[in-house]
Order: sequence, then structure tokens, then C-alpha cells
Amino acid sequence: MTTDDIKQAAQDLEMQSAENILVWAAGQFPGRLTFATSLGIEDCVVTDMIAGHHLPVDVFTLDTGLLFQETYSLWERIEERYGVTITRVSPAHTVEEQAAHEGPALWTRDPDRCCDLRKMQPLRSTLASYDAWVTAIRRDQTPERASAPVVSWDGRFGLIKVNPLVRWTFDDIKAYVREHNVPYNPLHDQHYPSIGCVPCTSPVAPGEDPRSGRWRGTEKTECGLHFVKVKS
Ligand code: SF4
Repeated sequence: MTTDDIKQAAQDLEMQSAENILVWAAGQFPGRLTFATSLGIEDCVVTDMIAGHHLPVDVFTLDTGLLFQETYSLWERIEERYGVTITRVSPAHTVEEQAAHEGPALWTRDPDRCCDLRKMQPLRSTLASYDAWVTAIRRDQTPERASAPVVSWDGRFGLIKVNPLVRWTFDDIKAYVREHNVPYNPLHDQHYPSIGCVPCTSPVAPGEDPRSGRWRGTEKTECGLHFVKVKS
């Protein structure tokens, strides 16, 4: 797709349903489309749509080795429920090997480097095999995501990025999950609206920003998969 094609597709699909956006993407990139699920509640919605429409989309998750046990259990439940395989993408080194190379608990000293080693590098090598990837980001999640288009060129990874849920609110997500009985992480019901690695995820108090439990006490708000915080 040319730059103009991508802009046109983003315009044409802006008001389309998430299902229609996914169907379009699967037709546009046959055999070359992947979905990076982080197993959050939004990702569960996208997985339900992909499975429900039998779309030929490879699904994978970045297993940092530091996910919650509830997340690993959900992973199994989703595979059983939909009969799909969520491919495990692992970092080059285990947590123990990383500690030997970088010192223990790198996430406490340099979370950007830790995310680079455990998420970004594996993601980059996985996406190199595809022409487009699907994500479950929403515009209302962070200021960085507020202007995310439905379709864009992802220059950081060199492929098209498709965001079928960008217009959705969290209430939309909850309504879909209820209506379709979508399995989701029980931690979401225990004050964890956003769930990542155990060391970098904490519960959120009523009224707090939903993502304030991620990398609490630091300025970091993104792991770098979707946006990089510009340091001032
Ligand atoms: Fe490391 Fe935390 Fe990033 Fe996970 S979220 S890769 S533990 S810094």
C-alpha cells in the first residue's frame, strides 16, 4: 500500500465496526497479518472477533516470563475456548539469565532497557515476518494514543498497523465482554484495569487514571510497543 492508500483506508474505515476493520485487514494481507495480544480485556475482545469470523490471523503474545499467573491461566482458557493457538514469543534470555548479564531486577533501575530486552526486541523480530499487525489500543487510554488512526504505517517496525478498537471506550469493551461472554483476566475485577508484568503492575485506586498502576512512581507510561515517550 502506498502512503495515500493507507491514509484513504484510515479514512474509509474510521466509522466502520471493529469486525469490518478486521475483515478488511485479513483480506488485504492474506497470510501476512498478525495480532499481538497482551491478553488484556481489549485483546480478549479482538481475539473473540478474530475467532468468531474465522479470520486467518496469526496470534502471538510476548511472554516476558514475568506475567501474572492469572494471565497464564487466561492464555490457556482462551486457547481452549476458541481452539486457537497463541504463539509464545520469548526474549533471548530468561529472567535469571538477564539478571546474570544486567544485574538483578533491571526493571527497578532501567525499565526502558528491560522492556527493550523483554518486549521490543522479540516483537521486532516477530513482526519482521509480516506485512501488517493488529493491536487493541484505544484512543482514550493515554494522551499518546489519542490520535491513533485505524490504519497507519508503523515506521518503527516497518509494516502496517491496524487498530480496530481505536474509537471504543472502556464501557464499550465491558458491554461486548458481557454480551459475548468473553473470558478475561480476573485481575481486572480486582482494581487492575491495565495488566502487564508483575513487577511493574499495581492496583489502581478509585478515581485514579486506569494506567497509573503501570510503572507506578516513574514517568514511564508505555512499554514502547506503540509509542515512545519523548524525553524532555
Ligand atoms: Fe521489564 Fe517491567 Fe517492562 Fe516487564 S514491564 S519488560 S518487567 S520493565
